Amino acid sequence: MADLTIGLVLPEVLGTYGDDGNALVLRQRARMRGVDAEILPVKLGESVPESLDLYCLGGGEDTAQILAAEHLIADGGLTRAAWAGRPILGVCAGLQVLGESFRAGGRVIDGLGLIDATTVALQTRAIGEITSTPTRAGLTADLTEPLTGFENHLGATLLGPGAEPLGRVTRGIGNCDVAASADVSDGTRQRFAEGAVQGSVIATYMHGPVLARNPQLADLLLARAMGVALGELEPLEIAVVDKLRLERLK
Ligand code: GLN
Repeated sequence: MADLTIGLVLPEVLGTYGDDGNALVLRQRARMRGVDAEILPVKLGESVPESLDLYCLGGGEDTAQILAAEHLIADGGLTRAAWAGRPILGVCAGLQVLGESFRAGGRVIDGLGLIDATTVALQTRAIGEITSTPTRAGLTADLTEPLTGFENHLGATLLGPGAEPLGRVTRGIGNCDVAASADVSDGTRQRFAEGAVQGSVIATYMHGPVLARNPQLADLLLARAMGVALGELEPLEIAVVDKLRLERLK
């Protein structure tokens, strides 16, 4: 077993838009610092080992994410990992599956309940570039850099009091639109919310993959998984990542 194990959860059903790349980014950033890291893909039907160092879930189509939710609830391994404080990154369908419930295939489907969030439907599919300013809630307190990604979802996610947004949207839609947020009492909080932070879970609508576009977020997850402070990780200078961020954040 490697020193750092990264669980890639259900890549065949939760892996749209290159989201598997998040695990690759984590492994590479760990290896560049001399840490022996490996990715363990967990396929549909397999049990999620509960003692990996961190976990990634990507996006997926509606039918695929129903399969994912049903399997992960029945298995229980990811839930136990979250209860033990192991960091989990959920992207798009991954975010929705980690919440309380989501709508897919005309039904309301139970999620894992690791995020106090309910996903209903947007009036129009949100597609395009998205940027946000980190809220620095909970385990993301050390994030200082703007976040960038690409969104493509019909889900509108409303956060309950147990979850905080990962970011405040500066461009794009994020968790929900004005129409969805008009119905809830804390509409302003919902309107500009992007993603969610709760306990050891960080979730976002940002594809990209999000960790390739946001190295500070990748390092935050790595630091948490390694049990060190973000500032203790040796800085990495990767010119192409800086160039990508300049292009996407202008
Ligand atoms: N099927 C979900 C939605 O449309 C998630 C999509 C995705 O993961 N890109 O909201």
